[in-house]
Amino acid sequence: MERNDYLKMLVEEMHSTTMATIGADGHPQTRVIDMMLWDEKGVYFLTAKGKAFYAQLMEQGYVAISATKDKKAVSLRGRIQNTHSEKLDEIFEKNPYMQKIYPGDTRAALEVFRLYEAEGEYFDISDPSHIVRDTILIGGAEQSMAGYEVGNECIGCKLCFAVCPQKCIDITRIPVVIDQHQCLHCGRCAETCPKGTIRKRGQ
Ligand code: SF4
Ligand code: SF4
Repeated sequence: MERNDYLKMLVEEMHSTTMATIGADGHPQTRVIDMMLWDEKGVYFLTAKGKAFYAQLMEQGYVAISATKDKKAVSLRGRIQNTHSEKLDEIFEKNPYMQKIYPGDTRAALEVFRLYEAEGEYFDISDPSHIVRDTILIGGAEQSMAGYEVGNECIGCKLCFAVCPQKCIDITRIPVVIDQHQCLHCGRCAETCPKGTIRKRGQ
């Protein structure tokens, strides 16, 4: 699937999303926030100007979110911008329940935020024997490397494959190759390799 497929899934299927910011006490805080719209510029949500959450968004300009449904999950972390009332009417049109929470002109209490630059991940365990992992990028965010990769010291002994819970290592080649889209990042292969040649990516 492509980035837009994941954003559509996040907004239209998962919708209610756990969002983390840092509280005034310096510790993480989470709450459930609905993802209202998506477009080429990112994902949109809103909150009331009177809330402590609003003040945190304005001060920090950064959030982390996670949502899940049917054993599929989307997580994103990145920068937000306040778009004030831009998209507010469109959000109410596409999410009619908002008209009952904030009837008439009381929607003026709300402001819209856009998650415009973010990196994250899609994780699907709906078929537990064949998990799927993918990267999601919004805006100019750079992909951070995670998981494991195999170095040139590999001798093709296949011990890593034997202990891999997903059997996601191609042992037809030397060095063997980890399928990054099916890897759990569990680290069993790295612990087992007699040559110590399976290393964390990006290190
Ligand atoms: S355990 Fe290490 S040396 Fe053996 S096949 Fe896997 S990566 Fe290569
Ligand atoms: S990290 Fe775990 S799932 Fe990924 S290749 Fe190694 S053993 Fe398999």
